[in-house]
Amino acid sequence: MSGTRFQLNFVGDVMLGRLIDQLLPVHVHCQEDAIHAKHFVAGIPSLLDYNFKSPWGNTVPVFHSANLNFINLETSATTHAVKWPHKVFNYRMHPTNIQCLKEARINYASLANNHTLDFSEEGLLETVRTVRNAGISFAGAGEDREEAVRPAILSLQDNDKEYSVHVYSASDHPGEWARVPNFHFIDYLPATRHRLKTLLMSPQAKPPDLKIFSVHWGPNYSWSPSEEIRSLAHYLIDECGVDIIHGHSSHHIQGVEVYKQKLIIYGCGDFVDDYAIDKTYRNDLSAVWRVAVEEKEGGHGLKVRELEVLPSRISHFQTNLLQDHDVDYDWVRKTLRKLSEQLGTDIEEKIGKESRMSVKL
Ligand SMILES: [Zn+2]
Repeated sequence: MSGTRFQLNFVGDVMLGRLIDQLLPVHVHCQEDAIHAKHFVAGIPSLLDYNFKSPWGNTVPVFHSANLNFINLETSATTHAVKWPHKVFNYRMHPTNIQCLKEARINYASLANNHTLDFSEEGLLETVRTVRNAGISFAGAGEDREEAVRPAILSLQDNDKEYSVHVYSASDHPGEWARVPNFHFIDYLPATRHRLKTLLMSPQAKPPDLKIFSVHWGPNYSWSPSEEIRSLAHYLIDECGVDIIHGHSSHHIQGVEVYKQKLIIYGCGDFVDDYAIDKTYRNDLSAVWRVAVEEKEGGHGLKVRELEVLPSRISHFQTNLLQDHDVDYDWVRKTLRKLSEQLGTDIEEKIGKESRMSVKL
């Protein structure tokens, strides 16, 4: 007998800094970005009305209809102005603009990525406090080491029953952030694997009903996950009890893999940002990765049942879901199918009124 179903939405990088921050009514002071943003507004007058809801376009109802929404927050949220030195891109948004996440009812933000320390350790601390004060769960960074490595704890409720969801987060770059104790850095060495196993399998009064690992990994612009990434993903499932791996960083979609009835999304792609478009990797195309989880038989814990893929496109600092007759929908469909096939996973396609892509587990 099947039990209660919940919908969880996952998206990749949400980069609300730089030009997006400048378009919002309150923003950090940066003359260069302000001039750049003004140039766009002159050409696209609708940007004059840019507000907290604007980055999400027509995807807002998808988030509002889900039980939980998970993102990677690919920017710091701080007014602190001292940059981490020798970085090519340093992103920040004004803490006021965390309201954008509230508009989409984002429940969880990963803070382990290559931008939350862009305005130094003070900037990271302000980011942590900003996210916390907004009532959004987070993992991957914190005010101290203990907070950076511990999971975010969320819950799903159905009538009188409550299920717990634990989300861990870590990043494999930049290497020099490994020395920042309140940032959860990982590498692919055996010692790190053992540390993760100890962390994720530590005895708890009540083990979670669902365990998620949200990870910023791999190089930009690489279609397939490396062997060390695949191996770590399998290890997290085999040895650490992880049910869903929420991978991001590549800037474009990568394949998905069903491994031992667990789900690995290697690269969600960039969900919203202000980046220039790479014509080969199409970093403007991404998706809402909607995962259905269901109570296990016997009522102990939750099981991943299905992944649905809702393709999306960023245009003029806003993300919108793609219609199935759009040529870019077809690009996402074909690319995802090919990349997932290489990982041994078939994407099911339903064309017609109920047009969608899905993977059943
Ligand atoms: Zn990144």
